[in-house]
Amino acid sequence: MTANKIRTLDMVSDSSGMDDFTAIKKVKNSEDSDTSSDNVDEDGNKLTKMARAFKTIIECLGEDSGREGLESTPMRAAKALQFFTKGYCQTVESVVGEGIFNEDTESDMVVVRNIDIHSLCEHHMVPFSGKVHIAYIPNGKILGLSKLARIADVFSRRLQVQERLTRQIAQAIMDSISPKGVGVVLEATHMCMVMRGVEKQGASTVTSTVLGSFKDDKQTRAEFFNLINCTK
Ligand SMILES: [Zn+2]
Repeated sequence: MTANKIRTLDMVSDSSGMDDFTAIKKVKNSEDSDTSSDNVDEDGNKLTKMARAFKTIIECLGEDSGREGLESTPMRAAKALQFFTKGYCQTVESVVGEGIFNEDTESDMVVVRNIDIHSLCEHHMVPFSGKVHIAYIPNGKILGLSKLARIADVFSRRLQVQERLTRQIAQAIMDSISPKGVGVVLEATHMCMVMRGVEKQGASTVTSTVLGSFKDDKQTRAEFFNLINCTK
């Protein structure tokens, strides 16, 4: 493949907050309205259990879980952790929704750079954050550009390792629109490394996955990596 026409997009910081999660849960509940009260109960039970566990942790640290500043912390921490792992309540299908379009752009490379991701390392349950760069060459179908960020979110908002996260994002795009190829590069800083002094502040880990023509065609792959490296 020669000189792919390239469309790039830089993502502005993802501003999705708690409200986004609430909205997702509302949609989820209204979809299966028969069981919505069960879901709320189940959700409440899980939060209560998590809060109890956080209270235990606080006490094991040697703190007084009853003191004013910590009184509401167990439930607050439980809700925060539930938000940080909201990807378990989502599927690629649910976030992509209607965002697939037929488009005759078969030789174009679509590149979306600098999508913010925040995840939790599954070994320490401590955050890792960074930027993901996604590219694909359509095969008659394209994804709404914001959907790439939503797909990244589905997998990053779980307990993860960076390698698997990178692969899952690439595979999800492959499964959604069967493009000719996909490339995903993820650069992230792991707080479990930074805070323990294993990694210097600012050092990052880079992982990549290439599928289809990005894997088979050296020139396409080179073009992709060149684009990611040269245009930060
Ligand atoms: Zn870790």
